[in-house]
Amino acid sequence: MTRLRLAVIGVGHLGQHHARILASFPDVELVGVVDANPHQAALIASRLGTTPYEHYEPLIGRVDAVSVVTPTIFHHEVASAFLQAGVPTLVEKPICRTLAEADELIALAQKAGVPLQVGHIERFNPAFEELIKRPIRPKFIEAERHGPFTGRSIDIGAVLDLMIHDLDLLLALVGSRVARVAAVGAAVFGGYEDMVNTRLEFENGCIAHVTASRITRHPKRRLRVWAPEGYAGIDFVTRKLTLVQQSEELRQYGLRADQLDVEAKARLKDEVFGRYLQVLNLDADRKFDQLTAELRHFIHCVRTGETPRVDGHAGRNALELAERVLAALQAHSWDGTATGPHGPQPPPPAGWLFPPMRLVQSEAA
Ligand code: NAD
Repeated sequence: MTRLRLAVIGVGHLGQHHARILASFPDVELVGVVDANPHQAALIASRLGTTPYEHYEPLIGRVDAVSVVTPTIFHHEVASAFLQAGVPTLVEKPICRTLAEADELIALAQKAGVPLQVGHIERFNPAFEELIKRPIRPKFIEAERHGPFTGRSIDIGAVLDLMIHDLDLLLALVGSRVARVAAVGAAVFGGYEDMVNTRLEFENGCIAHVTASRITRHPKRRLRVWAPEGYAGIDFVTRKLTLVQQSEELRQYGLRADQLDVEAKARLKDEVFGRYLQVLNLDADRKFDQLTAELRHFIHCVRTGETPRVDGHAGRNALELAERVLAALQAHSWDGTATGPHGPQPPPPAGWLFPPMRLVQSEAA
């Protein structure tokens, strides 16, 4: 099999892993890495035995596909340059900064007839893959994505940085359009929201509560789904899926707890999980991580021309919903009045929750 010539544009925190994984594929030749910071390009190139570039232009015409992992504000410029040249492109999430930019990328990919994939990596989390193939019709969902502040991706807020992962997952899982959006969020360290909560009402009756924070001490990434078919819980970090469903006995005969005698009620506590509700814990972990799975899928689509699992339209739909969350967040009133503070800048604190602690110099550093 001929090796596909690939390049990665933007080899910072995440892009260096795209480059490392692509370089490890036997059917891929990593012909170059590009970074606006020449030291970073040189560092990653020397590590992987490839050529560093400071600009992507020389690679147009010399690659069979690219992965674009620059900050979001540059996705459109870089991806459109390659798509215009007919090069299959994987662009990190969010697809672009605006819907108009996303539309342009989709149109360019369509015109060239080449795959455009968007890096919504959790779709390749094996726990989510296990869930979505089951006949579940979600009616209430809770999604939480919390992490500590890293100082990265500060060209966007927590909605486009983190929450968009869950918005994409919900759109894939629920399979319905969103009718109403309410949101509240706060900018703590910069100009964009660092934490946000939204309530989504889908046209098919499903309701979702989604929280994202990039200022939480303890990381957490999980999804909980209630459906007529049962309950599903995913821990994206450990890649574990828990499924709970009614037993055949419960489905067939039901259970009237109010009609049980004292003894039967006493037994119930021990019988709920087992006799009435059955639990399946699936350890969906596998030998390779989801970034490897996502990149393998992209290479497969480049070779076959298949539509990627997360194509430009899916990336655009997630961005569109993210923009609706951002609009709801901007419209949120902190004191319930039309004239009071609105949007992600909260009002000044009314007081201290506890007496402020004075740090000595070494602790503050
Ligand atoms: P980063 O700042 O660590 O790296 C970006 C790199 O791109 C830097 O080295 C920078 O010098 C370089 N760069 C900037 N402009 C460039 C240009 N025009 N051409 C070439 N190189 C350029 O950022 P990051 O955390 O790696 O994030 C990059 C992208 O990946 C963002 O879009 C982000 O949203 C996305 N991301 C996705 C996930 C995920 O889970 N899928 C996780 C983290 C980041």
